[in-house]
Amino acid sequence: MTDPASALSDVQSRIAHAAKVAGRPVGDVAVIAVSKTHPAEAIVPLVAAGQRLFGENRVQEAQAKWPALREAHPDVVLHLIGQLQSNKAEDAVALFDCIHSLDRPSLVAALARAMDRLGRHLPCFVQVNIGAEEQKGGCAIEALPALLAEARTADLNVIGLMCVPPLGIEPAPFFALLDKLAADHGLAGRSMGMSDDFETAIMLGATHVRVGSALFGARA
Ligand SMILES: *Cc1c(COP(=O)(O)O)cnc(C)c1O
Repeated sequence: MTDPASALSDVQSRIAHAAKVAGRPVGDVAVIAVSKTHPAEAIVPLVAAGQRLFGENRVQEAQAKWPALREAHPDVVLHLIGQLQSNKAEDAVALFDCIHSLDRPSLVAALARAMDRLGRHLPCFVQVNIGAEEQKGGCAIEALPALLAEARTADLNVIGLMCVPPLGIEPAPFFALLDKLAADHGLAGRSMGMSDDFETAIMLGATHVRVGSALFGARA
């Protein structure tokens, strides 16, 4: 593995190239550095290299790592990209700045309650189970209109859609479908693309790519 600063600049230049090919301003694509499973010592060099936007997929792990890091770097922005249990909604709202995994009515209610209680109204992405996979998180495509309506009624600030396409097959059709669903619902955000496919996702409209192993190396 190369050092974190050169991994970051490599990812940034690949993002810039994909945006250019797609005729999109590079500033339209945010890179979320996914630091799950990596300790604070691995995160600090990326912060030092200028990265400020990070993603974690478990509330408890983030609670253990991030308060100290954020105290040292108050301009860090932290997104929750993993499944959220309703009973962790308040912990999540207290720690994170954006939630990518809103996927069911019970979580709409839990997040709305937590945000009201804490007075923190975070932007959210609705996660869509884009490949209709049985064991995967995300709202079914058929259930998306009703879930978005519920979120609106609850005054949640939904800024886009998020997906994790099925593993092992070409992701482009799934990215294109998420892009279309977002457009159909007038949503600007598309959280899609990971280390293996972020350039494809950018060419198909990603506004947030979630990149872990290309920045931090393989997870144990
Ligand atoms: C782990 C994870 C990522 C990053 O995956 P890499 O392949 O390491 O880039 C992105 N999105 C979600 C939801 C994840 O859980």
